[in-house]
Amino acid sequence: MASTRRIPKLPHRHARVTTVFVGQRGGIPYEVERTTCSVCRRVLGERPLRRAVA
Ligand SMILES: [Zn+2]
Repeated sequence: MASTRRIPKLPHRHARVTTVFVGQRGGIPYEVERTTCSVCRRVLGERPLRRAVA
């Protein structure tokens, strides 16, 4: 059994990992910068960058 998804119970410093992906809203592609924690997999923040050039 894999236990990689278990959530750490102890408080920790979020290990911020920034990922940029291209999403779509209303048929318009746009870039989103998402910051997640690699330890607890929580989404710490998300902000749109700019409209992606098709
Ligand atoms: Zn965390």
